[in-house]
Amino acid sequence: MKLLTGKTALITGANRGIGKSIALKLAANGANIAFSDIACNDDTIQLENEIQALGVKAKGYASDASSFSSSEELISKVVSDFTTIDILVNNAGITRDNLLLRMSETDWDRVINVNLKSVYNLTKAIQKVMIQQRFGSIINMSSVVGIEGNGGQSNYAASKAGIIGFTKSMAQELGSRNIRCNAIAPGFIATEMTAKIPQAARDKWIQDIPLKRPGTPDDVANLALFLASDLSSYITGQAITVCGGLHT
Ligand code: NAD
Repeated sequence: MKLLTGKTALITGANRGIGKSIALKLAANGANIAFSDIACNDDTIQLENEIQALGVKAKGYASDASSFSSSEELISKVVSDFTTIDILVNNAGITRDNLLLRMSETDWDRVINVNLKSVYNLTKAIQKVMIQQRFGSIINMSSVVGIEGNGGQSNYAASKAGIIGFTKSMAQELGSRNIRCNAIAPGFIATEMTAKIPQAARDKWIQDIPLKRPGTPDDVANLALFLASDLSSYITGQAITVCGGLHT
C-alpha cells in the first residue's frame, strides 16, 4: 500500500513550481488531489491530467488564497467534491522585493496578504473539517528567509516568520484533536520565483550553499510527503529547512 492511499490533499498555488511538485508527489503516493491557484489556465488542465494519469482523483480550482471569503468557498467546494480533506499544504506565495526605503505600502500589504493571511484563511476554514474527522496534517510553506531575514525582502521575511509563529500556535491548539501542523523552510529552490533573481546574485547564493547547488521542487516535495504521511505522526509544531545546508 502507498503512504497516502485513501487520503485527500489540498495544495494552494499549485499550477507550477513547488506546489505542482508536491501535488504530483502526493498523488504518486496514492492521495486524491485538490489544488488551487489564482486562476485556472492551461497549466491547471495539464496538471489535472498528469495527476489523473497516476490513478487518483484530481481537480483544480481558481481561488485567491489571500481572500477570506474565497478560501471559505474553496474549502466547502473541495469537501463537497472529495468528502474529506486530510492534508492541507499552504503553498501559495509571492515576492515583491525592495529595500524598505523604496517599498510601497501596496507591496508590503500584498505580500503579507498572499503569504501570511492566506495561511490564516485556509487554516481557519479547514479546521472544522479536520476537527470533525479527528485527523489532519497542515503544512505551511515558510522560507529560510523567515528564520534569518534578508535585505531587500523585509515584507517576504516578515510573512514567512509569521507563518512559523502561526504554525507553532496551531500545533498547540489542534494537537489534542490529532491535527498536526508543521512548516517547511526551503532555501534557494530553482523555480520561476527565483528565476527573477539576477544571475550574479544566484551564483553567489550557490557558492554559499554547502551542497553547491540550488534545490529542486522535488527536494521540497519529499519533505512534504513525509510531513503529510503517518511517517511523521509524532512530529508537530516544527519548521524544517530544505536548504542544502545554507541554514544551520
Ligand atoms: P512560483 O512563483 O513558481 O509559484 C507560486 C504559485 O502560487 C504560482 O502558481 C502562483 O500563481 C500562485 N499564487 C500566487 N498568488 C496566489 C494567490 N493569491 N492565490 C493562489 N495562488 C497564488 O513559486 P515557488 O518557488 O513554487 O514557491 C512556492 C512557495 O514556496 C511560496 O510560498 C514561496 O514563498 C515558497 N518558497 C520558495 C522558495 C524558492 O526558492 N523558490 C524558497 C523558499 C520558499
